[in-house]
Amino acid sequence: MKIFLATGNKHKIDEIKAIFANVKDVEILSIKDGIDIPEVVEDGDTFEANSAKKALEIAKFTGMITIADDSGLCVDALGGAPGVYSARYSGENATDESNNAKLMEVMKDEKNRKCHFVSVITLGKPDGRAYSFRGEIEGELLYEPKGKDGFGYDPYFYVTEYGKSLAEIPKIKNKISHRANALKKLAKELSKILVD
Ligand code: IMP
Repeated sequence: MKIFLATGNKHKIDEIKAIFANVKDVEILSIKDGIDIPEVVEDGDTFEANSAKKALEIAKFTGMITIADDSGLCVDALGGAPGVYSARYSGENATDESNNAKLMEVMKDEKNRKCHFVSVITLGKPDGRAYSFRGEIEGELLYEPKGKDGFGYDPYFYVTEYGKSLAEIPKIKNKISHRANALKKLAKELSKILVD
């Protein structure tokens, strides 16, 4: 069974492919296989809305069963921000560096560093049906970046249980992350969904 992965983010492609490597009979295709996809406007207020929109628009476009991820960082002291705006936190031409710089500036005097990542994975079918799964991981925001792997806010996301940032533990990240947790839920239901 071929499933298309609707994201332009190469880090997400690598992570999701690695997590899916153990799922039998599923081959993940993406833009890395030369299939171009249109940009989907992420104008929803929730991870669920954006994830379903991406999966369904691209499923319709490709004619293939399609998986999409909408994810972001939610900081307790900021009332859950940047949340669904994580990718564009520092503006239209945001980069990981500019987003992290803004977050560190906003949080510089804040003692409550609690935060979590959210990932909502949606499997969309070309006929318009969608199945969504939410995963989370708890952490604390560091004051200084640690580690070189990962992407986005990873160098600032400290996982207490491992005493490391997500950017220091890429292999473990693929087992414990918000994305891994959402994908585990999907994998459990996958055979049922595919015959639905
Ligand atoms: P999306 O592509 O609209 O889902 O945006 C997700 C944004 O949230 C990314 O650009 C990152 O800034 C952030 N993000 C989501 N997942 C992760 C992760 O696993 N590590 C670090 N940052 C993440």
